[in-house]
Amino acid sequence: MRKALRSLAGALLPGTLLVAAAPAPAADQPAAVVRALLADDTAVATVGYRLATANVDLCVEHMVESGMLIETLAQYGSDYRAAAADILKLTERPTIALVVPGSPAERAELQPGDALIEADGAPFAETPPTIAGGTFTAVEAAMTALDSALADGTARLTVVRAGERRTIDVIGTPACKARFQLIPGDDPDAVANGTWVQLSTRMAGFAKTPDQLAAILGHELAHNALGHRKSRAAIQRAQELQADRLMPYLMARAGYDPAAAVGVWASFKRRHLGGLIQDATHPSWSERLRAVEAEVARIAELKARGEAIVPPADLRPR
Ligand SMILES: [Zn+2]
Repeated sequence: MRKALRSLAGALLPGTLLVAAAPAPAADQPAAVVRALLADDTAVATVGYRLATANVDLCVEHMVESGMLIETLAQYGSDYRAAAADILKLTERPTIALVVPGSPAERAELQPGDALIEADGAPFAETPPTIAGGTFTAVEAAMTALDSALADGTARLTVVRAGERRTIDVIGTPACKARFQLIPGDDPDAVANGTWVQLSTRMAGFAKTPDQLAAILGHELAHNALGHRKSRAAIQRAQELQADRLMPYLMARAGYDPAAAVGVWASFKRRHLGGLIQDATHPSWSERLRAVEAEVARIAELKARGEAIVPPADLRPR
């Protein structure tokens, strides 16, 4: 029997991914699952933050980023709530699950476990868990409230830490519009829709290093950067190649090794990876690998000549 682990945003991915393919957990298993998810969430949030903030000038839509991941207890399936409360200090309020190193949230000395009470005087809602499967509505509303408080560059947050109220000013940083989200699931999926960049835990598992993770997230962020939306198959094929070509530039500018993308794409080709990343709407892996290799070689030349890492004109916002 499949147990709901953590509820997620929207209907970007197929509904089956809204539940983890985990069997009924043994007594000690939820803690291990929540800890493993936190480690992966931290990797995704950290790489995503670096990609989104280093490439602001290449993105058509922007936001002000704080570098924290908010979660609520109501987001977790009933089997995982005790572990999420224990490990992540989650409550009925939106709570900081992690803080990205070097981010505005870290500079403001916000901490995991801080419960959010107000942003710029507007209260965050409390949401007691009511359904066994969990709901993403509360955490999404909290993310939206935080983003709109930060839209002018700063937000004054009231948080509760160890029972004590504190007021903390966060000075945000400009970023490409993207909320990075890890989805518990066994299918190798990654998608972007202009707001969200989602990838499954299975897809994240293909990345053995931060550089490799930056390739996968960079491809999806490239779709957002280029303003891609779901289109007719012929257009989508062209969009996939565009995202593949822009991806190594996003990586290099964020301090990742763009050559790692060649290795990841080559491994996808070897696996004949199916699903959303390789179907009728996608070019062949051979074509995609060649496109990535060509841009990685061009970036190496730019670096060797000491020139700025700027993508070709057709990959820049008009
Ligand atoms: Zn794509």
